[in-house]
Amino acid sequence: MYVADQPGKSRRSRFVRVHHLDGGGTRPLGGRLIDGQPGVLRRAATACHCLLIEHSTGLALVDTGYGEQAVTRPEVWVGRQIIRRTRPVLDQVIARHVEDLGFAREDVRDIIVTHLDLDHAGGLADFPEATVHVYQAELDAMTGAYGRRERFRYRPVQIEHGPKWMAYGESDSRDDHLFGLRAVRELRGLPTEILMVPLAGHTRGHVGVAVDTGNGWLLHAGDAYSFHGQMERRPRMPLGASVFQRSLDTLRSSRVENQRRLRELVHDHRDAVTVFSSHCATEFERLRGTDGHER
Ligand SMILES: [Zn+2]
Repeated sequence: MYVADQPGKSRRSRFVRVHHLDGGGTRPLGGRLIDGQPGVLRRAATACHCLLIEHSTGLALVDTGYGEQAVTRPEVWVGRQIIRRTRPVLDQVIARHVEDLGFAREDVRDIIVTHLDLDHAGGLADFPEATVHVYQAELDAMTGAYGRRERFRYRPVQIEHGPKWMAYGESDSRDDHLFGLRAVRELRGLPTEILMVPLAGHTRGHVGVAVDTGNGWLLHAGDAYSFHGQMERRPRMPLGASVFQRSLDTLRSSRVENQRRLRELVHDHRDAVTVFSSHCATEFERLRGTDGHER
């Protein structure tokens, strides 16, 4: 069983440590047109930014990458078409990263998912006993019938083990705000330092996850945006990434509006909160090996 070595006695002495883990990004064709780095005739590099949070009473994950079964049966778990198109890096298994840090998989008692796309939910099966905190609209999108356009992104096989869902909805985030964004502050069984921030658009029930580290806030924005330049005052992003983003929009106007809110937050609260996305390799490189702060 996991025991934090400095359990929080009060809100002031809380203990939250964050590890940035790469659950395997993609290596699609297009170089600069996707990742903004020099060279077009090479494969681009994206990350799959997940977090392992050591908090006062245990371990929590934010997102899970493709998962271990993507290694053992990739065509079933991820799908042949996705593999051919995006060239996912499947040997970056979050459960193994957790073990490399000296923990057991069973120590992870909670998982908060930004959404249930196959590159975020694939590792849920590696933690079958964990409680999975999710937005209800996302669960409905995955298990409901929204037609072919949304069916390609979710892989029902990834949840066949029956995750222990803990779902939240509009009423849970009505009254609370974090830096001007609505937030769910009461994630059952988790300390109040970890919040869910609804950011619909990419999918119907997409959320960000905010963590108060005691030394500034982190906001994992999931796929609410995908390239660091989108958070600049004059947003910019490579053409290929932009086409990709649009092709994956479920609710475009919400995605655009939430990106605007995030950009505003970044500029108004730069000293208090570090915002990053799932797939920007530049942001991942900036934050890996830190407790989350660029300063
Ligand atoms: Zn994604």
